[in-house]
Amino acid sequence: MDFAWSEEQTQFRESVKKFALEELNDGLRERDKRSEFNLEGWRKCADFGIHGLPIPIEHGGLGADPLTTVGVLESLGYGCKDNGLVFSINAHMWTLEVPLLDFGSKEQKQRYLPRLCNGSLVGGNAMTEPGSGSDAYSLQTTAERRGDRYVLNGSKTFVSNGGVGDLIIVYATLDRSIGPNGICGFLVERDYPGLQVGRALEKMGLRTSPMAEVFLENCEVPVENRLGREGNGKNLFTHSMNWERACILASAVGAMQRLLETSIRYAKDRKQFGQSIGKFQLVATKLVDMKMRVDQARAALYQTAWLQGKGKSIFLEAALAKLTISENWVRCAEDAIQIRGGYGYMVESEVERELRDALGSRLYSGTSEIQRVLIASLLGL
Ligand SMILES: Cc1cc2nc3c(=O)[nH]c(=O)nc-3n(C[C@H](O)[C@H](O)[C@H](O)COP(=O)(O)OP(=O)(O)OC[C@H]3O[C@@H](n4cnc5c(N)ncnc54)[C@H](O)[C@@H]3O)c2cc1C
Repeated sequence: MDFAWSEEQTQFRESVKKFALEELNDGLRERDKRSEFNLEGWRKCADFGIHGLPIPIEHGGLGADPLTTVGVLESLGYGCKDNGLVFSINAHMWTLEVPLLDFGSKEQKQRYLPRLCNGSLVGGNAMTEPGSGSDAYSLQTTAERRGDRYVLNGSKTFVSNGGVGDLIIVYATLDRSIGPNGICGFLVERDYPGLQVGRALEKMGLRTSPMAEVFLENCEVPVENRLGREGNGKNLFTHSMNWERACILASAVGAMQRLLETSIRYAKDRKQFGQSIGKFQLVATKLVDMKMRVDQARAALYQTAWLQGKGKSIFLEAALAKLTISENWVRCAEDAIQIRGGYGYMVESEVERELRDALGSRLYSGTSEIQRVLIASLLGL
């Protein structure tokens, strides 16, 4: 495996880091308090090419390979402290753009991908329901074919970008009696009759990433907006989850690196008992552990992306990467607070927000328990 960056990749990564540091962080504390999405930042990232990173050039993207994509997202996460904005971009890329690219018809790709890449459309997916979370395929939302349309009925929850989204993939079943084989994905536009975006859900972290409930009451979806063939929803979702698990936490590796560097600086500057606190082994060990976790997370991320770029199966590696990065991110954020003592607990230190943001990563794209269940079964247990 070769993870050496070319001159061109290095320059791109540096330019993204600089752009993010300069353009995306202003007013974040207030936006976090108000749970406010940064639409201007969203557009700036799209103009920079972030939204279309893995999408081929002919569909309006940059056509980057998986390793370049995660490297660039890592730089974005390093420079941009707004983990909510970064999460919204990731939800848009992995749960909508990529399944659309890989399962969509020529017309669907032409109609939507260029506008998803240039950021004029905001997207996401709606799988989770009040009664089906980890057991996603037990969903109750139904789809019934009536002439040239499908009629969808049901309710979805925890839909990221739901409140601001223009296009979402809604998963529904055509026939509950055949279980996962009855599931199908539909490209649903915000103004389709019968689609109602419910209340905004206020979250503990990632507060700048909007989330909402979505209701479908005789929602009419044209037949040409079915994504893939009837009953292919399980494949569609599994494919999307594989990409999601492999790539969604690339930016978290950048965020962890940022936490490590600021924590080292703090430990050198802060003096107690007449010396820098970093000189106390109990503090230094925390920084060593942080470094170990960042490097471990980065290695899992790059290895998975490299294998993906070579067209290998990454089912196991993606689950391992998701689990490793999310757990390490939470522990890094905890250590960053502990190293800062009482100051770390204060909102103005801006590390308590990092912990709140990091905790969500144990839940979305399959909880840490579900990743462990998957990994155990892949180990033959
Ligand atoms: C920030 C965030 C963003 C999200 N964005 C989206 C989105 O855009 N679209 C969408 O559809 N969904 C989204 N979700 C929902 C997310 O996918 C679910 O929260 C997740 O799948 C868990 O489902 P649940 O919350 O219903 O928990 P449950 O499935 O009820 O799980 C509760 C607990 O039981 C454990 N558990 C469940 N089954 C098992 C098992 N077999 N073995 C061991 N333990 C188990 C879980 O790990 C968890 O600890 C988002 C969630 C969050 C937090």
